[in-house]
Amino acid sequence: MFQAIPTPKGDPILSLITEFRNDPRDQKIDLGIGVYKDDHGITPVMQAVTLAEQVLLNANGTKSYQGLTGDEQYNESITQLLLSGTSALDRCATLQTPGASGALRMLADLIADTAPNSTVWISNPSYVNHRPIMEKAGLTVKEYSYLDAQTKAVDEDAMLAQFAALGSNDVVLLHGCCHNPSGADMSLEAWQKIAELANKQGFLPFIDIAYQGLGDGLEEDTKGLHIIANQVDEFVISTSCSKNFGLYRERTGAALIVSNTLTAAMNSRAKMCELARGSYSMPPAHGAAVVDTILRDDNLNAIWRKELTAMNTRVNGLRAALVQEFQAATQSNRFDYFGEHKGMFTLTCISNEHIAQLKEQFGIYIVGGGRINVAGLNQSQVKPLVEAFVSIGA
Ligand code: PMP
Repeated sequence: MFQAIPTPKGDPILSLITEFRNDPRDQKIDLGIGVYKDDHGITPVMQAVTLAEQVLLNANGTKSYQGLTGDEQYNESITQLLLSGTSALDRCATLQTPGASGALRMLADLIADTAPNSTVWISNPSYVNHRPIMEKAGLTVKEYSYLDAQTKAVDEDAMLAQFAALGSNDVVLLHGCCHNPSGADMSLEAWQKIAELANKQGFLPFIDIAYQGLGDGLEEDTKGLHIIANQVDEFVISTSCSKNFGLYRERTGAALIVSNTLTAAMNSRAKMCELARGSYSMPPAHGAAVVDTILRDDNLNAIWRKELTAMNTRVNGLRAALVQEFQAATQSNRFDYFGEHKGMFTLTCISNEHIAQLKEQFGIYIVGGGRINVAGLNQSQVKPLVEAFVSIGA
């Protein structure tokens, strides 16, 4: 049966990891895979997570099946974290999913099941997995203008002009904050215009928020989302605890449906449960239990928020240092965009030739397209990185 399957091309990011690992140079720098690292290059287990795990260990739990919706306490906690204070709370249904990837796929399956002729609009550029997830669910995918490659900021006029031409068969996939891969977030004015356009044109906003707390702060990072939540009847959210709780491998996320009525939202969630039953059935329990334990305990919550702020401060410090070093080395403001971007990434838009030169000459590993994982740097690597960029004329 399987003999005819061709050898896969291989994932470019994963093969970069192997190349990096096998590179013998001491000064090599890995700016590829999108995980947060501390000053020692480690992706740490957060202290709040370790403490919550101890609580769970002492609690005489069970490993029995949990049910298709996952951990309902976690669903409630994560809903509050995202939508607290908005009018969407009482018409929202939440499904625990295996990471935001699972949420993206379940929501895509739901859309494909309910309105198979929908087109999903993703930003250009977008998270590398958005297109394949939507397409594998059977949906048509098109791109909307997003990043201005010259200014490295969002071309809001071009984006909004496209949204103004959409209709009720369209789904607009937006990044809630900390756009991946660009780091360029849109203004709150643009969010407001999107809310108005969604109401006027009838398209469905689909907000993927995988970095809440890694931009301007936990509450601040939901400001755009809250504009939609308070003004648009129907929209969906995928969210992740991979980055802000450091729970990557525990596969912890959620899919939220907000509709006109709670009944419509709950029915949609029940449909997603049926769809999940046809694949993974139930989400893994551990990560969700950890998140819920942290969010329900004042002390653990405070520890977690402090750790998250420290992560943010570290990344913002690196961004400031990059801006300063680039200004000094180029006598220009060409690289100031490093300071304007939010979250872990910045898309430099450098050429493939420059990416290859950085790897070969300096052992600096960057993924195709020129996305830099700023959160993978440490202060001592800022100067060599800037010098390498300048020496190859990137
Ligand atoms: N959406 C975006 C924008 C992402 O960057 C990622 C990767 N962190 C995901 C979704 C998937 O996240 P998860 O690891 O929770 O599946």
